[in-house]
This record gives sequence, C-alpha cells and structure tokens, in this order.
Amino acid sequence: MELQKIIDKAKIAPRRLSPRELEYLLSLESEEEQQLLFDAAYQVKLAYIGRKVSLRGLIEMGNICAKDCLYCGIRRGNGAVHRFELDLDAVERMARWAYEHNYGSLVLQAGEVESEKRTELVEAALRRIMKLSNGELGVTLSLGEQRDEVYRRWHAAGARRYLLRIETSSPDFYRKLHPDGHSFFRRRRCLYVLRKLGYQVGSGVMIGLPGQTAAQLARDLRFFARADLDMIGMGPYLPHHATPLGRDIELTPIYRRRQLMLGLKTVAACRLYLHDVNIAATTALQALAPDGRERGLLAGANVVMPNITDTCYRKDYFLYENKPGSDENSAESLAAFERSIAKIGEDILWGEHGDSKHYLSRTATE
Ligand code: SAH
Ligand code: SF4
Repeated sequence: MELQKIIDKAKIAPRRLSPRELEYLLSLESEEEQQLLFDAAYQVKLAYIGRKVSLRGLIEMGNICAKDCLYCGIRRGNGAVHRFELDLDAVERMARWAYEHNYGSLVLQAGEVESEKRTELVEAALRRIMKLSNGELGVTLSLGEQRDEVYRRWHAAGARRYLLRIETSSPDFYRKLHPDGHSFFRRRRCLYVLRKLGYQVGSGVMIGLPGQTAAQLARDLRFFARADLDMIGMGPYLPHHATPLGRDIELTPIYRRRQLMLGLKTVAACRLYLHDVNIAATTALQALAPDGRERGLLAGANVVMPNITDTCYRKDYFLYENKPGSDENSAESLAAFERSIAKIGEDILWGEHGDSKHYLSRTATE
C-alpha cells in the first residue's frame, strides 16, 4: 500500500477508507510517514473547522462508581480511593467560574451511579447552570449508562451533549476488560437512545490497551462511522497500579512513546476518516508528553477539556496514575494552556458552544 494514495483517497470524501487502509495508517512506524499522516489530518481539520480550538471546562463531580472496569483507578474494587461527591453549591461555583472566564461549555463527569438521588442532583445542577449563564453555557454529560428516562430528564433540564465511550467495539474484547455485570450491548444501546433523544452524541475507545491490535482499532473507527457519532473522545490507555489490568505494566519511556504515537495516529486516522466530527485532544495525551494535547490538535483534534475542578478533589479522581494538572488550580491551568495554544498558531473559541459540525449538518437534513 502507498501512504500518499490512501491520504488522497481519504481527503476526497469521508468514510472512504477500508479496514485495511485504516489499519495501515495506524501501523505506520517511520517518523516521516507519521508526520505525513498528521499533516494530512490537520489539513482536513482546517477545511472543516479552521485553526480553532473549542474548550470544555471539565468538572469531575464525583468518584463513587458502581462499575468495576478492569483498567480504571476509581473502579468500585479499589478500596484505597477516598470517595467524594460534589454538592450542588460546589458544582455551581465551578460552573460560575467557567462562565466568568468566558468558557462556552462544560462537561460534568463522574463515576457511574444509578439512583434517584444522583438523577435529581444532576437535574438541579443543570438548572442552576442554565440560570447562572442565562442558558448560554452548553453542557455535556459524561455520567455513564443510565435508564432512558434519566437521559430524557437530563436533556429536559438543559444537557445537550453526552459522552459515553464504548471503550472497544468488540463485544469479546469488552468482556475481557470488564467483569460480569457489565454489558457491551447495554452500553451500545445507550448511544442509540441518546441520539434519539436529540443529544449530540460522543463516544470513543482507549488506545493501546493490552491485547488490542491495530486491526481492532481500525474496526473501532468503522464503528464510529456506523454509529454516526458527532464527537469522538479517545485517549491512550494508561496503567494504574491498583487495577487488574495495570498492575504489572511499567510506564517505561518506550511504553510512553508507543502509547503517545499510537494515540496521535488514531486521532489523525479518525479525522481523515470522519472529517467533520469534533475530536478531543485528551488529557491522557498530555500525561504522556507535556505537549501531548497540542500535538493532538496538530494531528486533527479540535477540542480540549481543561480541568476546572477544585484542586483539592483532583487527587481522588485518578482514572490512571500520573494524571497531569493534579496540583494546579484552574486559573494556572488556563494561563499555561492559553500560552501553549498561541504557540501552535491556533485560536481558542472563547464563549462559544463549539457544536459538532457533523451534528449541525445531520440535523439540518433530518
Ligand atoms: N464513569 C463514566 C465517566 C468517567 S470515566 C464512564 O465510564 O463513562 C471516563 C473515561 O475514562 C472512560 O470512558 C475510560 O475510557 C477512561 N479511562 C478509565 N480508565 C482509564 C485508564 N486507565 N487510562 C485511560 N483512560 C481511562
Ligand atoms: Fe467507573 Fe467509568 Fe471508571 Fe468504569 S471507567 S470504573 S464506569 S469511572
């Protein structure tokens, strides 16, 4: 296969690449070829989005979780975690800070809790955020699998986007990453329900999981196309020593570099394949290299989610270890972030929702 031919084909229109071509892109090893891939993806991003970065202020609302995902540091089975849940006033304070600092949108994320109390807390938080911002802040939720009715109530209270990573599009592999009681099929169904309810729907996978192949990742990208997703959030897998999956993995420089490069290649292949979706440059990229998020933006991503949770809670929300920014406060993070975005020649879309272009065009024709 020839790289330039695949790139040319990908640029003509979205969704043209075959599984083998996607796998080829993800398997590129030479630095020169990887750079060609990143540059091509960046050009596609320029055509649809421009040199623009959308911001979402991330509020980590709580780490109580009913799930036991084998990779995650705040899984139920990790008894060493100090559990917390923000109250309504704390969420409102952080949201107000974001609004006053000209953020256009927020993400409320937490471990998975299915209860009437949690449903009401989120509903009340959404109402307060709508009120304090005169309905201007766009809110994304990332609160796991829920009953249809709960998703409907949160939409009615003002949530407009939902992030629920499928983690892997293979039911067999999913079973290996999750213990009994977790269901790939329920998770996948949630994505369809969210879409039917009118949300902008985001999903994604972890990149570089133990046992994952490039062919599998290529199939994940095809899944994103089939599910007609509006937003993609993918990040490299990072080990946590207190989890079954990460217990024996050593974060050597070689491992870090491999995870980073695979992460960037997957972002770029995704942009080349899907064209008009929002793609996040995730914190996990930044965990692998100080400029990981900026490199993600230069490989085709267009969304960054700076953490705006109060610093005192951050050490309790370690999905993986060595999470960056855990000792910074939101203002420090923001100042450093602004400088780094200016350095790569991109502009931050202050005060804008930054809706997915894909969502806007699919709903315009519906
Ligand atoms: N509980 C919710 C939201 C919080 S977890 C949910 O699971 O949907 C958000 C994401 O963190 C997960 O979807 C997963 O992809 C990612 N994550 C968890 N553990 C991780 C790890 N060790 N390395 C990288 N990403 C991880
Ligand atoms: Fe809970 Fe989400 Fe972590 Fe799974 S990935 S254990 S659902 S917080």
